[in-house]
Amino acid sequence: MTTVAAQPIVFDSLFVTVQAIEDLSPHLRRVTFVAPRLAEAVVAGPDQRIKILLPPPNGTDLMLLSGAEWYADWCAQPEDERCIMRTYTIRELRAEQSELDIEFVLHGVNGPASAWATDVVPGAEIALFIPFAVDTTSTKGMLNSGVDYVPPSTSKHRVLIADETALPALTGILEQLEPGVHATVFAQVPDDRDVRPLPTPGTADVTWITAAPESDADLPLLEALKAAELPESVDFAWVAGESSMIKAVRRHLVNVIGLPKPSISFQGYWKRGEAIG
Ligand SMILES: Cc1cc2nc3c(=O)[nH]c(=O)nc-3n(C[C@H](O)[C@H](O)[C@H](O)COP(=O)(O)OP(=O)(O)OC[C@H]3O[C@@H](n4cnc5c(N)ncnc54)[C@H](O)[C@@H]3O)c2cc1C
Repeated sequence: MTTVAAQPIVFDSLFVTVQAIEDLSPHLRRVTFVAPRLAEAVVAGPDQRIKILLPPPNGTDLMLLSGAEWYADWCAQPEDERCIMRTYTIRELRAEQSELDIEFVLHGVNGPASAWATDVVPGAEIALFIPFAVDTTSTKGMLNSGVDYVPPSTSKHRVLIADETALPALTGILEQLEPGVHATVFAQVPDDRDVRPLPTPGTADVTWITAAPESDADLPLLEALKAAELPESVDFAWVAGESSMIKAVRRHLVNVIGLPKPSISFQGYWKRGEAIG
């Protein structure tokens, strides 16, 4: 059971050990981490963003980040000497068992995180930067806690659009959809075998798109959205994935569908041809 605490926001880093590795599909690998301190960890929402920390490129030992100035401290270090940092989603936290799952997209060995996940073996050690307390008292607090999916409580019909990197978050969002809420979902994966069941206590109609776009102009998720007839009842949208895709989809939601900008939560999870720390 995931624990949520209403306290000031506190992120901290800790070393974790890989306990289990499960290939969910050709491009998605679930890695289960353990560490005694995970018993104190919390999540603020189903798309809880965290950092994974890998050893610096120069091969020195991985040092933990902490304190209010952690990001400024990290930025101030020479690139070769500081830990490699990438953003991921907590797929599931089982605090009572001191376990945490992350689902890694295996997009090749062209990036350190994907390369690490491709070669990982049980017993491997990395570090995570995760929340140990969360401000649940306001939307702003939730956003500061690393959660972007914060629909208004009045929302009854949501559009959820995700590529494979946002599939872990999408799966969690649908698992926690309130009964009586409907989701119109567009999900893109590189391979038919990456399609997975998306159970929900609400209701959902899901359009799967199998594609691996190779340019910023190739936007199958946008094309699928354009081809669909969205009912006027849609009152909130969450869009996450590749940077050009989320921008194009947001433009369509605002200019064609007529959704107000504040009703759209959109996050670039990766950028084609660029490493994002
Ligand atoms: C809030 C948030 C949550 C995220 N959650 C997850 C998650 O749960 N699981 C997950 O797998 N990813 C997730 N991501 C995306 C992940 O951070 C990026 O894919 C990241 O680039 C991976 O780091 P890397 O070291 O493998 O590659 P990088 O060093 O960052 O990039 C190397 C190259 O790989 C390319 N690349 C990166 N991702 C992909 C991809 N999916 N397909 C093809 N090429 C790619 C880049 O464009 C670049 O050319 C999340 C991102 C954010 C911002």
